[in-house]
Amino acid sequence: MRKVLVSGCLQGRALRYNATYVPLSSLIWDRWSTEGRLVRFCPEVAVGFPVPRPPAEIVGGTAGDVLAGIARVEEVNGADVTSLFRLAARRALDRAVEAGVALAVLVDGSPTCGSSVIYDGSFTGRSVPGRGVAAEELLRHGIPVFHEGQLQQAAAMLAAMEESERSAG
Ligand code: SF4
Repeated sequence: MRKVLVSGCLQGRALRYNATYVPLSSLIWDRWSTEGRLVRFCPEVAVGFPVPRPPAEIVGGTAGDVLAGIARVEEVNGADVTSLFRLAARRALDRAVEAGVALAVLVDGSPTCGSSVIYDGSFTGRSVPGRGVAAEELLRHGIPVFHEGQLQQAAAMLAAMEESERSAG
């Protein structure tokens, strides 16, 4: 049975920068949980960020630029936390590979976990299309990433993967 990497703050653990969690009410989630598929992981806490912590945003480029060393991640107070965010992305990939996950469901909007939108680096609450650094790292290594509003699509892909593995014998 294939596992699913999920943001540690999704449905129950208050790990976000503001010490909250992201609630989720879904039969798919409940089923995955009962089946033991969920691999909960918070990349930021895994590299030592405290809860709560200052909000951070990608500044001067995309998540890909952060991985390439040509954009930064900064906290609202101006602190450069780029290297820790890159390490957090690497840890997420390591955890995903170690657990053999089929895909990931991560919280959108985060500079780490976002997969369709992130904040624009101005700390004014404006969001733009984009990905967080860990989501980018996972995708680059062939692990599909969905956000918490895409559980049905994620479940469909998971079912298709398992079906194809069954047929391959
Ligand atoms: S890094 Fe990801 S898992 Fe951790 S609190 Fe932020 S959104 Fe949640």
